[in-house]
Amino acid sequence: MADFETPEVKEYLDIPALKRGVMGNSKPFVSKEQFQEPLGFPGELVDNWQQVAVDKLGELLKTNRGLQVFMDSCVKCGACTDKCHYFLGTSDPRNMPVARQDLLRGVYRRYYTLPGKLFPKLVGAMDLTEDLLDQWYSYYHQCSECRRCSVYCPYGIDTAEVTMAARDIMNAVGKGQKYSNEIIGKVFKIGNNLGLPQPALEDTLEGLEEEVKEDTGADVRYPLDEEGAEVLLVTPSADFFAEPHVDGLIGYGKVFHQAGISWTLSSHASEAANFGLFIGSMENMKRIAMRIREAALDLGVKRIVFGECGHAWRVAYSFLNTLAGPFDFLDPRYPVPQHICEVTYDLIQRGALTFDKSANDHRRVTFHDSCNVARASRMGDMPGGQFIIPREIIKAVCNHYYDMPPDTIGEATFCCGGGGGLLTDDLMELRVKGALPRMQALKQVVEENGVTHLAAICAICKSQFSKVLPYYGFQMDQIVSVHQLVSDAIVLGQKQ
Ligand code: SF4
Ligand code: SF4
Repeated sequence: MADFETPEVKEYLDIPALKRGVMGNSKPFVSKEQFQEPLGFPGELVDNWQQVAVDKLGELLKTNRGLQVFMDSCVKCGACTDKCHYFLGTSDPRNMPVARQDLLRGVYRRYYTLPGKLFPKLVGAMDLTEDLLDQWYSYYHQCSECRRCSVYCPYGIDTAEVTMAARDIMNAVGKGQKYSNEIIGKVFKIGNNLGLPQPALEDTLEGLEEEVKEDTGADVRYPLDEEGAEVLLVTPSADFFAEPHVDGLIGYGKVFHQAGISWTLSSHASEAANFGLFIGSMENMKRIAMRIREAALDLGVKRIVFGECGHAWRVAYSFLNTLAGPFDFLDPRYPVPQHICEVTYDLIQRGALTFDKSANDHRRVTFHDSCNVARASRMGDMPGGQFIIPREIIKAVCNHYYDMPPDTIGEATFCCGGGGGLLTDDLMELRVKGALPRMQALKQVVEENGVTHLAAICAICKSQFSKVLPYYGFQMDQIVSVHQLVSDAIVLGQKQ
């Protein structure tokens, strides 16, 4: 199955003995010219790359005040060192968050601080050499930008921001990552990460309508490009065909159908994901986000709702208005944007949906908090809503729910191991090893509570778990969408 060893899952999570440089050769494929240029980046490493990189760092320090603070404020207290799933899974000390940050901090000190210019060795300043650029490429693609380390840092230093800055600089000098950049190019060209054109989407959605009719007898619609619908649903393109994602999409449709809300998908904005975040490029994030605004205006919708996708929700919740606003043409009675879980939860609260919970009795369920939802956004109007709402939905549709240990969920949740632009087969070893802490927590509830399924609200988490669960002795179909559970339990028929 693989030419590396899957880490052993122990009873408790160990802090591993250090293995220096063991992941030094883990690198994703470098992007070629054809994937660089559509994003406005040089096609290959530019001749004066050191100067371009140093200048770009200077520009980011000016425009991102947080980055300047993060560069200056680390006191090397060590609180973050054992908090990263990639360090815990790989044992490489360069995957300790502080060590990862220092790859950029050393360059910052060398070129932007007086002591670094005068006495570089004394203050850990580093010349930006080709070897260091190579280390950046390796270790800044071993961070899923999950922000777990920042929860434990007394200064709130956010390694995700440091990683994004480093990737932004690497793109500026012509050393981008193929996986993310190729995907962004597909969104610009076709509208979604998977490159699914409008006719393919239409076919898929018609197929879903037939499938649901066969299963339930109900005429649930999965409309595309329908002008005048109330809701524009923007969802990750994996929802159109991947398992278990598509079962979630079936669930969203049933919720809208039962609530009597007219809705549509858009072939222009057929992607919720925004990989511009992963590469730290505000310009590319903006171009992707603008497609949603354009689709909402073209279709004349009144609300924008996002499907189950972790980082898409982060971009939507935190940045959509800045990137593509103002959204003053939408119905002011609803938040812009809304998460599908907020919509379903609200309908449940109002008694607008009926469930047969016994339909999920063959499942004993736990919930994986996805990093970008947990630590970079919120849901509803209550503090911690992003933790409460998905769990309340699951409990409303399932009789058997069990949480994983408290230090592995909520704001302390562990990344699935495939976030932040790392969900590519050229990083399989990293992905499997990075999943270790989550697999350990899952094993605990499997053994103690007989848990059979792990539910999630992120397309990347679902794809990653489908792939890595078998490495740890689980089945790939033990990962389910939250709206798959809703779909299986919802009673269709007479409106409430
Ligand atoms: S942001 Fe997440 S992946 Fe990156 S260093 Fe921190 S804990 Fe590790
Ligand atoms: S916890 Fe914060 S201050 Fe302490 S070593 Fe890590 S990044 Fe530096």
